[in-house]
Amino acid sequence: DIDRLHKVDDFQWVLEPERAMRVPGVLYADEALLEGMDDRVLEQVANVAALPGIVKASYAMPDAHWGYGFPIGGVAAFDPDAGGVVSAGGVGFDISCGVRTLRTGVTEEDIRPHQKALADMLFHRIPAGLGSHGKIHLSPGQMDDMLAGGARWAVQEGYGEPEDLERIEEYGCMPGADPGQVSARAKERQKDEMGTLGSGNHYLEVQKVAAVYDPDTASAFGLREGDVVMTIHCGSRGLGHQIGTETLKSMARSAPGHGIELPDRELACAPLRSPEGQAYLGAMRAGINCALANREIITHLARQGFQDIFPEATLELLYDVSHNTCKEEEHRLDGETRRLFVHRKGATRAFGPGNPNLPRPLRPVGQPVLIGGTMGTASYILVGEEGNETRSFGSSCHGAGRRMSRNQAKKQWRGDQVVRELAHRGILIRSPSMRGVAEEAPGAYKAVEEVVEAAESAGLSRRVARVEPLVTIKG
Ligand code: 5GP
Ligand code: MN
Ligand code: MN
Repeated sequence: DIDRLHKVDDFQWVLEPERAMRVPGVLYADEALLEGMDDRVLEQVANVAALPGIVKASYAMPDAHWGYGFPIGGVAAFDPDAGGVVSAGGVGFDISCGVRTLRTGVTEEDIRPHQKALADMLFHRIPAGLGSHGKIHLSPGQMDDMLAGGARWAVQEGYGEPEDLERIEEYGCMPGADPGQVSARAKERQKDEMGTLGSGNHYLEVQKVAAVYDPDTASAFGLREGDVVMTIHCGSRGLGHQIGTETLKSMARSAPGHGIELPDRELACAPLRSPEGQAYLGAMRAGINCALANREIITHLARQGFQDIFPEATLELLYDVSHNTCKEEEHRLDGETRRLFVHRKGATRAFGPGNPNLPRPLRPVGQPVLIGGTMGTASYILVGEEGNETRSFGSSCHGAGRRMSRNQAKKQWRGDQVVRELAHRGILIRSPSMRGVAEEAPGAYKAVEEVVEAAESAGLSRRVARVEPLVTIKG
């Protein structure tokens, strides 16, 4: 399949438009990563390129793999003036799933004697697992306020610190959210789920900074080797999933009426300028706020517990970035500034230095890009590369990506054994589900180094630091 691609350089491959494609496909990866990608990724990149109003290219990030409709690791921007569409499958089911990292102000040396207590405390405080409930129960009025206010709402309610907001995309609150477009069923599913991690791939991890690659940027991010950081990966829980499920059905029904021919039913979409498109945007933005509020509440719970053990801990937010969104952004295209709707599905926003959307302290250096690896290896903190906006609408990869399915992983590993082996290596895992741990065994994921190297060589984002797990709370 790689034969169908035109090689621009070792890290950029182009699928020239064929058949219904309106723009080329662009894949950022090295040959080994490309060979390892599911054949369906190329097909999905081509299908996305055929959607109405797409501009410039249909992109795949180095960690791209097969997804529902759009590939995971897919980036595509649409122009509403050219009949552009919004697609629920282009956002993903876990709306605004994302990652945030906090500096803790303590070092690995400080942590080691209290590591077990820290693991138990975090596991006790942060509800994890499928359908887990928290201590917060939202009334219908509170639900709507949360969906409109995001992390800003959480801070107003006493969960989190006002200083956090500057370090969250959209400053903690996605404008244009319309709680009225979120179904009663979606709200019902969410009312007891605020401040919970969810299952499987979601985690809260205490990590040590194991290596620094770019000392100047690391210093601007406040990171030094030996420092301990805390990272939270989760999303919009049952609410996001319900919005996605409902919208995929309704968009598949309404598409023909808008004259949209779907190359794949999973690519269900609606024109941005249609009632269906507007309804989804309103609901999806509410879903983004739900995820931002959720990560803020989890942060608050973890901070309290962390400071019980380490009173001197500071826990300042480095950054919070989502990897399942569609956002209206201004981009330069053929010498003009255009307002586009950028879908990033399993792809992280990665704006370079100078981008006016970044908060002032980060503007000279660029946006922190937070990439998960596995609970047994490493994760990376990168920074958006200069000029990345012209390469991928300012995007980067979001993780290592799975090497094998959950089912395969379950056959190959046992959860309790994985936990024991990691404990020998100084990594404490806590999870309500040993089956979940087996599915998430480090060997079930690709090597994150390869993905990160490809992102760097392609000019998307640059390595700043590598972090390694000390404690992982797994959903
Ligand atoms: P996704 O959003 O696609 O579910 O996951 C993003 C990435 O998180 C995965 O590709 C994987 O590399 C990473 N990841 C999954 N579980 C863990 C974990 O327990 N710890 C860390 N550090 N990364 C993980
Ligand atoms: Mn998720
Ligand atoms: Mn995610």
